[in-house]
Amino acid sequence: MTFEELGLVPPLLKALAAEGYTTPTPIQLQAIPFALAGRDVQGIAQTGTGKTAAFALPILQRLAANPKRVGPGGCRVLVLAPTRELANQISESFRIYGKFMNLKVTVMFGGVPKGRQSRAMAMGVDVLVATPGRLMDHMSDRTVRLDQVEMLVLDEADHMLDLGFIVPIRKIVSQIPAQRQTLFFSATMPNEIGGLAGAMLKNPAQVAVAPVATTAERVEQHVIMLETSRKRAVLFDLLMGPAAGRTLVFTRTKHGADRVVRYLEESGLPATAIHGNKSQGQRERALSDFRGGKCRVLIATDIAARGIDVDGVTHVINYDLPNVPESYVHRIGRTARAGATGTAISLCDGEERAFLRSIEKLIRSKVPVMVPPGQAAAQAPRARAA
Ligand code: AMP
Repeated sequence: MTFEELGLVPPLLKALAAEGYTTPTPIQLQAIPFALAGRDVQGIAQTGTGKTAAFALPILQRLAANPKRVGPGGCRVLVLAPTRELANQISESFRIYGKFMNLKVTVMFGGVPKGRQSRAMAMGVDVLVATPGRLMDHMSDRTVRLDQVEMLVLDEADHMLDLGFIVPIRKIVSQIPAQRQTLFFSATMPNEIGGLAGAMLKNPAQVAVAPVATTAERVEQHVIMLETSRKRAVLFDLLMGPAAGRTLVFTRTKHGADRVVRYLEESGLPATAIHGNKSQGQRERALSDFRGGKCRVLIATDIAARGIDVDGVTHVINYDLPNVPESYVHRIGRTARAGATGTAISLCDGEERAFLRSIEKLIRSKVPVMVPPGQAAAQAPRARAA
């Protein structure tokens, strides 16, 4: 699925291409169609999942489709964020994605003088991103008014609760017309947040993606830098040694999966694959062989792996690195289920280094480099001889 297929308009597609985004992330795939259709959305997603674009893109599109001017101090979209850092990031994202549209975006938060913020609001804006405390100040100063808001976003609602912002938020929301679209995002949905969502949303579409950080923290991760041509042999060595347990191997394509199965079988290691070209029966057989231990290596593509739940996966090997960083987190989360720990090893060739960099940005840490099995021993004598 591409951004184009999601129904985004050319100015947004151009901005996304300029950012180098080729594929929507899972939260974007789920939320954008509902938001574009004008539905309220309740989303469970953490930072790092691409959630900002999941609300910013449909909002920009809806604004541009129906240009309108608002009066002094007014805004058409209000985005509430708990911290100044997040508010800044969100406003920056709106500017980047909206750079080929003629829309006005401004941000306000505490700890800096109010004058410039008031002046920015004087002519009205399309999008106002604000922290609740400073917004309340401006509301009582009458430098901001919310009676023209058409769309409201609440981001990191659970964090708002931790910071004691629930009462201010209820006050702010009471000033916004009931006839509006509301998009509500939170990393977790404890009771109090569920209650707040219930009060703010009308018949919301529910969307959710797996938490990022917790999974990434539980899994021991390694990356092996190598040439593409060596991947098969290194995979075989891994499966015979360090990854001798119940191992899930991910490839980017269906044909890639079949080629890996063929190579492993020719090398005497039974393996099976699940992907979109297999019949339902073949997929079920592959899964039950893997679950039952008849076959300890399962090769899968991202989409085929989505619904499967197998306990006791000890290793995940990324034969190819995914081009959507969030897929990496989903993949490695297949090991370390239910609080267990697991190991993930990625094979990265020259062309995949950019993917590795995006993954490391997403998980906010460097994946340690590992020497391929067999090579450490092979290198040692040479090193001594030299
Ligand atoms: P967020 O969860 O909104 O904080 O976004 C996390 C990071 O992913 C940000 O650095 C975004 O620029 C980036 N990002 C968002 N959507 C995509 C996408 N579809 N493809 C690649 N990167 C993305």
